[in-house]
Amino acid sequence: MQEPTHILAGVIIQKCFDWRKLRAVGMALTAMLAFLSHGLLDKLANFTYHPAHADFHSAIWVSYHTTVLLVTILFLVLWWKPYWWGILFAMLPDIDWVFIHGQEILHIKIPFYREPHLHNLLHWLYARVPALSFLDHLPNNRENPWAILCEVVLVAVLLLIIRGSGKKKKEAT
Ligand SMILES: [Zn+2]
Repeated sequence: MQEPTHILAGVIIQKCFDWRKLRAVGMALTAMLAFLSHGLLDKLANFTYHPAHADFHSAIWVSYHTTVLLVTILFLVLWWKPYWWGILFAMLPDIDWVFIHGQEILHIKIPFYREPHLHNLLHWLYARVPALSFLDHLPNNRENPWAILCEVVLVAVLLLIIRGSGKKKKEAT
């Protein structure tokens, strides 16, 4: 999935485990679950607009990815400071693509990083959860620009959860 979705998942998970007592346990759980959330969300990638190759000649591809970049920056400005721990682990697996595409762009070879190791690890872990295998059979919308709406809806739902949790906290204090 796109980074804004991963960022929001990281924020929500950290909010859930923002314990004052047992802080270290809360942080460990946040890191683990945020990392795992990445694999779960990426399972939905086929269902959303995710063309296999960049297409700089497509107005839709360019405008969508420009918007995603701007929203990513906006979300990081809004939430990095209080929720960097959860966001970091929710985004961490995409370091795979930094290494892999970075090698292509820079024409260098890092022998031990030719494959998306972290995504492979998540894939291996989720393959052990048969209850989630239905996610592998979702319709493939990767080339369908209308499927952008699926990710927009997901982002909206995650934003509502964050908003709701903020309200609850205010009411509690
Ligand atoms: Zn990913």
